[in-house]
Amino acid sequence: MIVGVPREIKSWENRVAMTPGGVEALTRRGHTVLVERGAGLGSGLTDEEYEAAGATLTDAAGAWGAQLVIKVKEPLPEEYKYLREDLLLFTYLHLAAARDLTDAMLASKVTGVAYETVQLPDGSLPLLSPMSEVAGRLAPQVGAHHLEKRQGGRGMLLGGVPGVPPAEVVILGGGVVGINSIKIAVGLGARVTVLDINHARMQYLDDVFGGRIVTMNSTEANVREMVMKADLVIGAVLIPGAKAPHLVTRGMIAQMKEGSVVVDVAVDQGGCVETIYATTHDKPTYVIDGVVHYGVANMPGAVPRTSTFALVNQTLPYALKLADKGLDALRESAPLRLGLNTFGGTLTCQAVAEAFDLPC
Ligand code: NAD
Repeated sequence: MIVGVPREIKSWENRVAMTPGGVEALTRRGHTVLVERGAGLGSGLTDEEYEAAGATLTDAAGAWGAQLVIKVKEPLPEEYKYLREDLLLFTYLHLAAARDLTDAMLASKVTGVAYETVQLPDGSLPLLSPMSEVAGRLAPQVGAHHLEKRQGGRGMLLGGVPGVPPAEVVILGGGVVGINSIKIAVGLGARVTVLDINHARMQYLDDVFGGRIVTMNSTEANVREMVMKADLVIGAVLIPGAKAPHLVTRGMIAQMKEGSVVVDVAVDQGGCVETIYATTHDKPTYVIDGVVHYGVANMPGAVPRTSTFALVNQTLPYALKLADKGLDALRESAPLRLGLNTFGGTLTCQAVAEAFDLPC
């Protein structure tokens, strides 16, 4: 099959959908890989590395002309012209939040397989979790940076020093983001408390981290108590398919310590802090009631090199299946079939159809 890898054109999107290692895996199986010139530069991957791996360099139209196009972000309006019936598109789509794109996909009859709805039998989302891992590990790092005085923080070192206590880090939600935040915060020497509503998950975290963290049931009273003590709060809750609950109210923020920091990773689902709104890497923070708020909705974009490799590690096995078997891969693989969002001008994902009241 001919596989295309266009350069991402979304503002500040420096990830790329295929690494030279991925290109090598595809070409070794007899596929032709067309990579748009400069596609990997934002992740530190040169055209020469792609060529050495067996790719043919081309322009945007060339990459989009392939039978299977692998991307990171959803097509932007400038790219709608490339959508067509005999194209198999594999990328993050997030259609439920994008009516124009959904209409363009349906009108073009493109076959769209969305990373975010590929699902394993245990309900997990294997192509979403690598980005949660990145964001989770980034959150304490970002929090530590903004606790510095020059960044508007309390002027505290997360790990303290001998004779001076470490910072209090409070993590709301102990899922994929949460456990990765715990690892880094504990590693930096902070005192860490995790609040969740899932008892089995807290048993697991307690087993894994032993005495190095405190777990607490996520009740309103416990959240209030811990947020008031916190130097850094990390929001990491998720109720699948729903808006995040506002666990930290405006009133709680007003009672937090001056210069404390909130990193609400769940901002992409509306956030679990009432005062959070989505910010960008250009201006990631703002201050309310003396509390520094960080609400970047695409945190992995800060570390595109790590994120690209983390993403491709997970997408490559599926990309290989699609390249080897085309539409038959969807018939044979239940997880991939769940990834199918549009086919032949019809929606094939229930959640997207419900969002727009369209047939499925
Ligand atoms: P997850 O499902 O693995 O974990 C969510 C956890 O929240 C679960 O353990 C669940 O029990 C817990 N939870 C649910 N309700 C709760 C409550 N009331 N109090 C405390 N805990 C509660 O999800 P995840 O992969 O860790 O993702 C977390 C959030 O981070 C999601 O909104 C996701 O979209 C977001 N995310 C954001 C970025 C970014 O760049 N900002 C990147 C990746 C993920």
